[in-house]
Amino acid sequence: MIRLSKCNLTNQEKKAVINIMNAQYLGMGQEVMAFEKKLSNFFGRETVCVVNGTFALMLALDAINIRKEDEVIVPSITYISSFQSISALGATPIPCDIDPFTMTMDINDLKRKISKKTKAIMPVHYAGGVGNLEEIYKIAKNKNLRVIEDAAHAFGTKYKGKLIGNFGDIACFSFDGIKNITSGEGGCVVSNDKKILTKIKNTRLLGVHKDTEKRFANKRSFKFDVKYQGWRCHMSNIMAAIGIVQLSRFNFLSKKRQLLAKRYDSYFRNNKNIYFIEHDYDNVVPHIYVIRIYNLKNRELLIKNLKKKGIETGIHYQPNHKLSLYSGNKYYLPNTEKISKEILTLPLHPSLTLKNIDYIAQSLKKLINF
Ligand SMILES: *Cc1c(COP(=O)(O)O)cnc(C)c1O
Repeated sequence: MIRLSKCNLTNQEKKAVINIMNAQYLGMGQEVMAFEKKLSNFFGRETVCVVNGTFALMLALDAINIRKEDEVIVPSITYISSFQSISALGATPIPCDIDPFTMTMDINDLKRKISKKTKAIMPVHYAGGVGNLEEIYKIAKNKNLRVIEDAAHAFGTKYKGKLIGNFGDIACFSFDGIKNITSGEGGCVVSNDKKILTKIKNTRLLGVHKDTEKRFANKRSFKFDVKYQGWRCHMSNIMAAIGIVQLSRFNFLSKKRQLLAKRYDSYFRNNKNIYFIEHDYDNVVPHIYVIRIYNLKNRELLIKNLKKKGIETGIHYQPNHKLSLYSGNKYYLPNTEKISKEILTLPLHPSLTLKNIDYIAQSLKKLINF
């Protein structure tokens, strides 16, 4: 079976984990400090690591004081984690429609959705592309709103010559098993705002004041103050050890993803039935490869038939605004409703070969007669 997504691990990652086990300090300590330092160098901005991408988003929202009564605008087509990170704080995620070409936030709908209660915008860098991020920042500046980028798909992507995370307000990444790099699970917050990052360093450790500094010095806090609500969602040394090796291998990992995506493009270009997102893969590092199939009558059957040929596919994502928790049918988002029925995600991960891509594209071709 050709898997939809998969981590790419070598003996280097295994050795790094064994080293941590031999040192017998598994929790958050100097390995996490080292990973943060390397990430900060990579992004050119200070970085704080947490247990996953969902908590990266939630702690960032908490640090900018998102509370009950507040609204955060977010595209409906995203992983449930974007929505949950907002509602976890008692705030309301306001679903936004998507642009049909990039599948990122639709700028006109974003403008319509801004209300007196809006406190922040959460653009989602779908598949690794960022859409019209510049315009989003312009709107945020005009309306005095914070921007928290859900950059879980976009580790390594460059926009107008700059790495995502290197500019803007706050960017959150995920290092779960199938993302562009992994630390087992894991995530990070990148920002220029020292106040925000300082608060997250405390909130990831139950709000214990300056616990991060103690742990990085191999010490523990027995007497401490707590000034605000925190959660227990720091990163462990084991995770950081995997992450450090993955970051050192990122040149290979990213180039391979880009190469495979370009190969898919070459099959679907000039095709009347299939639309793919036109990314510049010299700058975008794709997390997933998504196509839209026009006039597709039975997606479930296609998925089943691909599976019979040993090809696993996925749907990224069903619209979040249709979920019971997010008030069912209160919103009508025309592009989202239409496009979410047409999308299909094809396998993409660094262990695949060009031959695999050829086989997948040709199998799809036979099944839908394009
Ligand atoms: C993976 C992902 C997240 C959250 O990351 P976790 O590390 O799994 O918590 C958030 N948003 C999007 C769009 C993602 O794909």
